[in-house]
Amino acid sequence: MKKHNFSAGPCILPQEVFEEASQGILDFQNSGLSILEISHRSEAFVSVIEEARSLALQLLGLENKGYSALFLHGGASTQFLMTAYNFLNKKAGYLNTGTWSSKAIKEAKLFGEVVEVGSSKDKNFNYIPKDYKIPSGLDYLHCTSNNTIYGTQIKDFPNIDAPLFCDMSSDIFSREMDFSKFDLIYAGAQKNMGPAGTTLVVIKNDLIKKVEREVPSMLNYKVHLEKDSMFNTPAVYAVYVSLLTLRWIKNNGGIKAMEQNNNAKADLLYKEIDRNPLFKGFAAPEDRSPMNVTFNLTDESRKEAFDELWKNAGINGLNGHRSVGGYRASMYNALRLESVEVLVSCMQKLEEQN
Ligand SMILES: *Cc1c(COP(=O)(O)O)cnc(C)c1O
Repeated sequence: MKKHNFSAGPCILPQEVFEEASQGILDFQNSGLSILEISHRSEAFVSVIEEARSLALQLLGLENKGYSALFLHGGASTQFLMTAYNFLNKKAGYLNTGTWSSKAIKEAKLFGEVVEVGSSKDKNFNYIPKDYKIPSGLDYLHCTSNNTIYGTQIKDFPNIDAPLFCDMSSDIFSREMDFSKFDLIYAGAQKNMGPAGTTLVVIKNDLIKKVEREVPSMLNYKVHLEKDSMFNTPAVYAVYVSLLTLRWIKNNGGIKAMEQNNNAKADLLYKEIDRNPLFKGFAAPEDRSPMNVTFNLTDESRKEAFDELWKNAGINGLNGHRSVGGYRASMYNALRLESVEVLVSCMQKLEEQN
């Protein structure tokens, strides 16, 4: 039986996507060939990556607005250094909201001066810093829209003169926003878009003019842009499955509908966390993420009983990240409301047992 999959990543994808993706391995579009054995330069694959690139921009409302979408290798972690390698000429600002931001900062320091404009490290990153000052003369400001490990999400992004870069790995395509605020967005596919192995980069074309350094080809945005994301062999299958997910998002009402569903799931679970005396939320209420819901037991001695309840209910992937402990329910686009209802009923059963 299919599990209720709350895994943080790689994560659940729509069942239809799994089915169509399996078919593509056996016989891709009735071609008599598997998608795994065709040339990435073939017409069939070029149309896959081109559709994925344009659909990504379309869903974000960035079509014909001077942006390009790329599917690159190396995960979001490669973007930590690639952004800095290309664009950190003197000084860049970073908002430190957790492990992933901290890793981005570490990489950036190899290339220039890093100003940590704000940090929530003092409280184990359970909130989003708000009243921070942004110095002038930055090459860019980097932030992380959703903090997968801590369950916090930035609701309001700063208005600044410098280019705004954002790691949206764990909430891309989950909520409506004015994405034209950003000059560069990146997201590892495996959190809300596809399987591991490819990273979506959405970049404002003009930004390339700001590159001053000699950058090796594979890490050079200009090279990937000029080669239409085909400088070397792309992660063919990961791009294909991402395309299927992007189509699924479009056919199911786009980001607007995703956001409504995500909010309904989040409301249900947060309401139970706040109501049930056996649980408490980890993230500051105003910064709570609808994608990753972090919570703890108020009395750790009930851990064994609760773990047994949710495991028996067919739930997978609920353990919290080691740096936070407790539980984390990741509720990406493809997770159904029914799965959250099952989790909530486990929480209520625990309460009845006591
Ligand atoms: C998972 C994650 C990453 C790391 O992604 P990789 O693709 O494994 O490199 C970076 N940032 C955020 C916000 C993440 O959730």
